[in-house]
Amino acid sequence: MIQLTKSFVLGALIFLTVLVFWFVLEKENQTAQVIFLDVGQGDSQLIVLPSDIQILIDAGPSADVSAKISNYLPFYDKDIELVILSHPHADHLRGLLSVLKDYNVKNFMFSGANYESKVYADFLNTLKAEGSNVYLAEAGDLISYEKDEVLKILAPFKNTLSKSFKGIHESMVVSELNLGNKKFLLTGDMDEKLEQDLIASYFAKASQDRSNALGDIDVLKVGHHGSKTSTSEALLKIAKPEEAIIQSGRNSYGHPTPLVLDRLNKFGVKIFRNDQLGDVVYK
Ligand SMILES: [Zn+2]
Ligand SMILES: [Zn+2]
Repeated sequence: MIQLTKSFVLGALIFLTVLVFWFVLEKENQTAQVIFLDVGQGDSQLIVLPSDIQILIDAGPSADVSAKISNYLPFYDKDIELVILSHPHADHLRGLLSVLKDYNVKNFMFSGANYESKVYADFLNTLKAEGSNVYLAEAGDLISYEKDEVLKILAPFKNTLSKSFKGIHESMVVSELNLGNKKFLLTGDMDEKLEQDLIASYFAKASQDRSNALGDIDVLKVGHHGSKTSTSEALLKIAKPEEAIIQSGRNSYGHPTPLVLDRLNKFGVKIFRNDQLGDVVYK
């Protein structure tokens, strides 16, 4: 009986030691990273901060995103601290339905602009049931982690709640991510018109406070999957990216277009594509 108790205690101690070591290792592995998830033809960016904090921007076109996300989260972490929806097109939105099912989404940010689709209506209902805190994105909003400004919202320029747009891309949530001394411009499906507006705001603010304006970045998440309606020369001149990520998969739209690829090459920008590389990870 005593023998049994001893071995039980010893077993428990070994188990605890292993557990503690494992947790320590797990924590040490938690360097900040941003992952451009390979979700096929669609957008999804996962920002992982130390202490199990995650920010997800868009979730691609399908439920596959949940398994993708789980590769970068410890098994015990079922919380995503913040989800941002760039705009409600299905190739950015549909995956969020499975994210809401598989994770606790604590905070949610979007433009709030009007958009009619079945997926979007389903999503908004599910979000309500989830009980996440909901925020409207507006230029100047800052998301900080331990005093460091991690994410800066550049567009929309003003509150777009319940506003209707001719094209929903006009209401795009565009942000700048600042992680490990690298700046990333996260564009969603921003098209040339919004690019021009962002550039105009850059010049308008040139003599004033430029902290919320577009500026020199390191990595460009290429707008609209490499469509010819985005990534103008004017944008490349101001943003001056060294590297570009193209989030596209098998598609019938011809994304990314040779026009945009040529333009990026002309500016000496190194291109990384999800359809060729799978997930693209910055640590
Ligand atoms: Zn779109
Ligand atoms: Zn899209």
